[in-house]
Amino acid sequence: MSGAGATAVAAPWTAGYARQMSPPLELTSLLPSFDERERQSFPFIAERLWLDFVNSDNALRGRDALYDFERFVHWLESARLLDAERGSGMRRRANQQPAGALAVLGDARRVRSVFRGLAERGVASREIRAEALCEINRVLGRSAGTRRLELRDDGTFARAFVPVGDAFAGLLIPVVESAADALILGELHRVRRCADPRCGRVFLDETKNGRRRWCDMATCGNRAKAARHRVKLHR
Ligand SMILES: [Zn+2]
Repeated sequence: MSGAGATAVAAPWTAGYARQMSPPLELTSLLPSFDERERQSFPFIAERLWLDFVNSDNALRGRDALYDFERFVHWLESARLLDAERGSGMRRRANQQPAGALAVLGDARRVRSVFRGLAERGVASREIRAEALCEINRVLGRSAGTRRLELRDDGTFARAFVPVGDAFAGLLIPVVESAADALILGELHRVRRCADPRCGRVFLDETKNGRRRWCDMATCGNRAKAARHRVKLHR
């Protein structure tokens, strides 16, 4: 369940925007349809990690990608924030401490909900920016660990955070730092929501002319193109 903080920001930016109920907190839910395809389908199209994280709520598109703890770990793996070894460490830990894992999942959704507010209304609302700031500092403040630069197998470099003590506590650090960067760099005014009203995904518009409209040309952009084409044919 989202915490009180999440409820507080819900009102302004959910107006006219039917929001799904948060799914129950579960380690591994019994829903059968989670397979490799779904794992592959986590979209990373937003140009910034914190916005990809926001999009995991699948606002208008269907099931929350963070449906249970297992899917949260999958998301972190897909985002390359956890390698296979740390991923299985998380799963082991979740089996030993299910209550802790569920608290982490609830917390992740709470942070995400505040970040959706920041993505959609942060540029206009000082209050929402202030709330995001609190949330960022809350997560940063309780996580002890070491920051490292790591060389990946494919030769690329990545920042990593190795938590000390509570392994769960550091999971959201990279996501939260990405949102912190957006505030530091003043990027909020370039955050857009997909022009397809049925979509709900957000992204950073990095085009020179600032006119990126679609989360993804292959899906929403293509649908719009096809619709324009149909209109032309019927004229
Ligand atoms: Zn879209």
